[in-house]
Amino acid sequence: MSAAYLNYMNIDRAKLHKVYRYAIDWLFPNICPCCECKIEYDKDFCKECLESLTVYDGKINIPYVDIFTAYCIYNENISPAILKFKHTDAGNSYYAFAYRIAEAIKKSCINANVIVPIPMTKESLRKRGYNQAELIAKELRYMINIPYANVLIKTRQTAQQKTLDRKGRAVNLKGAFAVDPKYNALAGKRLLLIDDVCTTGSTFAEAAKVLKENGAEKVFAASFAKTPKSREERPDEDTTAPEKIFEKISKNIY
Ligand SMILES: [Zn+2]
Repeated sequence: MSAAYLNYMNIDRAKLHKVYRYAIDWLFPNICPCCECKIEYDKDFCKECLESLTVYDGKINIPYVDIFTAYCIYNENISPAILKFKHTDAGNSYYAFAYRIAEAIKKSCINANVIVPIPMTKESLRKRGYNQAELIAKELRYMINIPYANVLIKTRQTAQQKTLDRKGRAVNLKGAFAVDPKYNALAGKRLLLIDDVCTTGSTFAEAAKVLKENGAEKVFAASFAKTPKSREERPDEDTTAPEKIFEKISKNIY
């Protein structure tokens, strides 16, 4: 069913999506991304897990990004859920993360008109089967009522950001993003970049740079979690770093 047809019929797409979630819950019951207990079809986390998250209230300046926001601090309470999401798209994580990103956006001065997920290369997409930032963006569009588009493409494979320090991360991503020729008219657009986790902000900075060079009026960025400053530089020595946590939980995933 086309978007134009839905608009013509004056149907609220957010409400329609809610009905879809209610129906699908019968087949694939909604679960809490952290503890995997059963939760209502329209809930994001169970009460206990939600209360265990540390809300992000920091302020960082990311080059080329007008406003950045995130919902929570990346810590040991949320990292297993984020890691599971990086290895399987099953469950409710992308809905839950989008729900909380929407909360953070509503509290900010972000006034975007298009959501843009951070892209993956075609090769990575083929290996993983999905782009987690795109899954979040698809849910988020119903929550903040603006469309999403894959405006950016990733033009080359880069080293894993977690293996590099701050300087290395910025160099690693240089020239790695481009605007998809389908979306070359970015003048006047206020774009909102979306990713699951923001560490140093290098990925958002490089993506925002490309969007601004192509005429975007404003570029905002939002992630579900933000790594605290103390863990940005030496993630490999951090026992709550993604790869360490993954070692601990990998038995439960497969
Ligand atoms: Zn829970």
